[in-house]
Amino acid sequence: MVMANTGTSAAVVDIGGVPLGGNFPIRVQSMTDTPAHDVKATLAQCIRAFEAGADYMRIGIPDKAAVHALGQLKKGLKQSGFHQPLIADVHFSATLSLQAARIADKVRINPGNYTPRASGTICSGQQDRLKAQEIIRSRLKPLTGVCREYGTAIRIGTNAASLPQHVIASYGRGAEAMVEVTMEFLQALTDLGFYRIVVSLKASDPLTTIRAYRLMAERMKKEKLQFPMHTGVTEAGEGISGRVKSALGIILLLQDGIGATFRASLTDPPEAEIAFAKALRSNYRFARTPQSEASGMTYTGNNKDGLIARIVAECAPLLLGGKLSDFDLHTPGISDPRFPVAVAESLMQACGLKSTATEFVVCPGCARCNFNIREVIGELRKRLPEMPGRKIAVMGCAVNGPGEIAEANYGLLGTPAGSLNLYRGKRMVVSGLEPAEALEAMEEMIKRDLRKASTPRE
Ligand code: SF4
Repeated sequence: MVMANTGTSAAVVDIGGVPLGGNFPIRVQSMTDTPAHDVKATLAQCIRAFEAGADYMRIGIPDKAAVHALGQLKKGLKQSGFHQPLIADVHFSATLSLQAARIADKVRINPGNYTPRASGTICSGQQDRLKAQEIIRSRLKPLTGVCREYGTAIRIGTNAASLPQHVIASYGRGAEAMVEVTMEFLQALTDLGFYRIVVSLKASDPLTTIRAYRLMAERMKKEKLQFPMHTGVTEAGEGISGRVKSALGIILLLQDGIGATFRASLTDPPEAEIAFAKALRSNYRFARTPQSEASGMTYTGNNKDGLIARIVAECAPLLLGGKLSDFDLHTPGISDPRFPVAVAESLMQACGLKSTATEFVVCPGCARCNFNIREVIGELRKRLPEMPGRKIAVMGCAVNGPGEIAEANYGLLGTPAGSLNLYRGKRMVVSGLEPAEALEAMEEMIKRDLRKASTPRE
């Protein structure tokens, strides 16, 4: 596992759930989705997640009041006997990150929001890269000062859906761009003499995620800047397909030895994420040799999370390595006959081998999401027919929403007021809809498009 150049002689340094140096267990985290200002609800949710086994929790910090609430939350957790680290998730505001760094054990910043776009300067070309790097350094300097003073770690949390313009202009939007922007921040922090760093490079597509982390691991080794990595597939969604996507990204990386911590992002309550994350951690080491019998593979047991984790751990490397082309799964311990079929189909789809269902990209929701995203995705799944090859993005806010929706056929984006904007591709069709209206409008629009597509031309 990676060892950071901490610049100190300390063998082990805890940086908010990630001890550096030596062998350590893989840690699992989740994120709250209660309103940031509702300390009581956030406290109760954190406690449920910690009791379920979360090693630490992340809290969205959308505004100054949320920083105040974070302080109360920390105090409340300590009073209740929970001393696990808290991570503040900050976007768009360098000022908020400075305030949060005085309270949280770790601050996650997103390079896409910490760069010239956020400071009002447009950097879109190669010639602007130096200017961008200068701005990055000057914006990070005060944060490193506060983090040093308070012993706070920083996570460079890159997300494929919110890359900065100056990097997109040179590298596009794929894994290479994710690595470049992460390296840019890593270089800036270490140039400033700051080493309590964790890096993450998440995409909603598991294969892009895996590629980005593998490239990053190589790059960090080459540049002799090795730091712990926090992994996860962002906006994986819910249900079986969400679990399979998350499992694919996380398990294949764990099998490579990548991932000091991870989050199995699901549009489910944090305690359900933690239960699934623990299943991934317990099963990722399983491996299987190529099967000759065409009759299929049988997995016993009645824990769905555990079965998904084990099936992905064993079958995904074979599928991606071309040693298994199609497969039948049998799970006699699960009474629902659709379960093994859905797991096999979701895995084939996540591996990019066969599309049998609509691809849903759904954010897990957090303090920035002002509508009930779980209800919306549940309703959409009930109302819409399967559309293999098509993608629908349902996103809570503007952090990663516009980026994901731009890559989808249809999208719903939450606004700060709790309403939803409806998209067809990149074009916004209607804005300011109540969730029930947005569901109606999306269903009508998609069904109309499908009718149009199936009407023979004269
Ligand atoms: S996109 Fe979703 S999970 Fe991400 S910050 Fe916005 S509401 Fe939270």
